[in-house]
Amino acid sequence: YRSRDGFQWTKETGLQAGIPSLGVIRPSNNLPSTAQSELYDVVVIGGGYTGLTAIRDLAIAGYKVLLIEARDRIGGRSWSSNIDNYPYEMGGTWIHWNQPFVWRELFRYDLSTKIDISIAKEGGLNSEAVAKYDKMSLADRFAEVAHDMTPLERNMFEAFLSITCGSQTWEEASFFEFLRWWALMNYSYTDFIALGLTYKFQTGQSSLARGLFDEALATGNLTYVFDAPVTNVVDSADAVSVTVAPRGQPGAAAAATASYRARRGICTVPLNVLYKINFTPPLLGAKIEASKLGHVNRVSKVHAELANTELRSVGAFSWPSGKLTYGFGDGTTPAGNTHMVAFGSAHAGIHLQPEENIEDTLAAWQNLVGGEGRQVDIRRVVFHNWHKDEFAQGAWEWLRPGMSTKYLDPLRERQGNVLFASADWAMGWRGFIDGAIEDGGRAAKEIASEIPVASHANWRV
Ligand code: FAD
Repeated sequence: YRSRDGFQWTKETGLQAGIPSLGVIRPSNNLPSTAQSELYDVVVIGGGYTGLTAIRDLAIAGYKVLLIEARDRIGGRSWSSNIDNYPYEMGGTWIHWNQPFVWRELFRYDLSTKIDISIAKEGGLNSEAVAKYDKMSLADRFAEVAHDMTPLERNMFEAFLSITCGSQTWEEASFFEFLRWWALMNYSYTDFIALGLTYKFQTGQSSLARGLFDEALATGNLTYVFDAPVTNVVDSADAVSVTVAPRGQPGAAAAATASYRARRGICTVPLNVLYKINFTPPLLGAKIEASKLGHVNRVSKVHAELANTELRSVGAFSWPSGKLTYGFGDGTTPAGNTHMVAFGSAHAGIHLQPEENIEDTLAAWQNLVGGEGRQVDIRRVVFHNWHKDEFAQGAWEWLRPGMSTKYLDPLRERQGNVLFASADWAMGWRGFIDGAIEDGGRAAKEIASEIPVASHANWRV
């Protein structure tokens, strides 16, 4: 099915909004006519990996779960579009065996033998230190080490860093986040590439998302509703009531608002959009503050299918002027063309909004890998603009200076019957798929320890 999300350009079709994905769920809900008068055990807001893990863990444990998702698909910031039998990854892509939560899931859904390789080979801190480095921005760190770098080293490093953190300035991005990534990547550039940019699914991320969703659905315990952005969450002592304002199908009027009730709620909406939901009682002040400040990552990720087969093992940088900053060969399509992926920095003057001017986007590809007599033959361009996406407003999490120490604890704090889970405030691989699975599982377990499964003995059959 075709999602409303994402864009595709080809010479024949021009720029088109909406691309197909395994993650689109049809029918878009399986609500019984009585849904608004039921008391579900748990309502989960958001069907990204955090929410999917929570619904799966709860449904197989026997709880009656309601999933509410704003989009027409599962996967959130990790989803793939299968076009002509080839997956383009719009968001989260690369996974690794050093990421324990996601690795367990590959085996569960028979994806462990379906791993592809992107980059062709040929081609613990103590709390004092955390406090110190969390105060520092990337600009502060550059000032400390600039004298140690040649202009070329500085240029390469800035290019790489600008797409790692996705910030618009060096001042707004935390240096601590970089140290955290560096530790996760085993303090090695080689491991950085292996862990962060190499292994991906032959069938795309949406196939792992389907694994989680389909297993939960098969229990008979999952009710779901897509295209249903949550506007209000009211927690009274005995139940959580969640109101949605359904998005109409393109061209049709939106349906009336609806409310659903459950004993507990898990809110998995990303940091940058959490403040948009009205909570009663209100969200903790620190949660609202953190959400309004937001993380800084506004990177662009753009795929291209290129007739130039010689580009399969190429890695290319263009900095500080190129609108696509770093790209590399990511695969070979069934048509025998090279698939390259590139990331664009959010720095002022070069921040690419790929759909706003497709000619600009095509020119950015020519600038990145053309030149020296090579004309790049672009057959297709595929992307999702996360910066403009109303349900994410950013890419992977990268906090501002001072945010880790000040806000992570309150962001993880539950409020009454509502738990908050997200890759954006996970403990381990924060900002990654692995962090989403970790935190969704944590929230599901917490609820399972306090509501007996027998609580729905009188459940409608
Ligand atoms: P999300 O996936 O954002 O899920 C939250 C869900 O809540 C969404 O489906 C959203 O639609 C829904 N929602 C929001 N508001 C509402 C509302 N009001 N009502 C109802 N629903 C709502 N990670 C890796 O491990 N490897 C990578 O290679 C990698 N690359 C990335 C590249 C890009 C371009 C991006 C954007 C991310 C990348 N990540 C990567 C990070 C990874 O994708 C995320 O950390 C992870 O998918 C987040 O999962 P989540 O469930 O916490 O949040």
